[in-house]
Amino acid sequence: MKLAVLGGSFNPVHIGHMALADDVCSSLGYDRVLFVPAAVPPHKEMVPGVSAEERLSMVQIACSTDSRFVAESCEIERDGVSYTWDTVDYLEKKYASSLEGKIGIILGSDLFAGFHLWKNAALLAKRCNLILARRPEQSSFAKSANRALGEYAQLENSGDSFDISKEPLFSEAAVLDNPLLPVSSTQIRNLALSGGGFKYLVPSGVFEYIIGGNLYGRK
Ligand code: ATP
Repeated sequence: MKLAVLGGSFNPVHIGHMALADDVCSSLGYDRVLFVPAAVPPHKEMVPGVSAEERLSMVQIACSTDSRFVAESCEIERDGVSYTWDTVDYLEKKYASSLEGKIGIILGSDLFAGFHLWKNAALLAKRCNLILARRPEQSSFAKSANRALGEYAQLENSGDSFDISKEPLFSEAAVLDNPLLPVSSTQIRNLALSGGGFKYLVPSGVFEYIIGGNLYGRK
């Protein structure tokens, strides 16, 4: 079984994540995409107010409608800073009897410029199959609401203009020609707070979960 990992904060999970996972299976022949919500992302500020368990619940709801998608809770159970390296350690053991080839690691274009800062980045690029996905340019509004930490702050404009051919860590990566959906969790949180419409930007059960739980300030 070919496995790919889609890590993220999933705050909340949205149709951009679903379409990306679908394309990884359809275009690259992966059998399963594991959606892995981070407990504490190493290079990203987590927006407070929604718990890790609630983010995981939304991912579970989203994955329940497609047998190729699996909600993987290992990073939330492990707690602390969520390093993909440690997650790969765990998943290689968990799927030892069924895993075919290397685990795929899916990266949206906002993550390209900072990948070299990931724990054991060079080893990870050899140990796994990196899968590089396109993502539309985020609006400056979304960027300012979602500032990255430390040195990442200086990289926030470089995601979409990043030249993947000049990054040696990506020399063996698969480059996905995935559909461009201009949607982000930041945008959905802002729409929820302002009373805007986001019903069709998230899987339907996730919309009900957000409304039912008054998440993101939505009343
Ligand atoms: P936020 O707005 O809070 O930063 P996000 O929308 O970027 O959240 P994440 O959970 O951080 O969502 O993303 C997880 C993974 O999915 C990352 O690899 C990211 O690049 C990718 N991704 C998110 N949205 C899209 C999209 N619309 N198209 C393609 N990839 C996406």
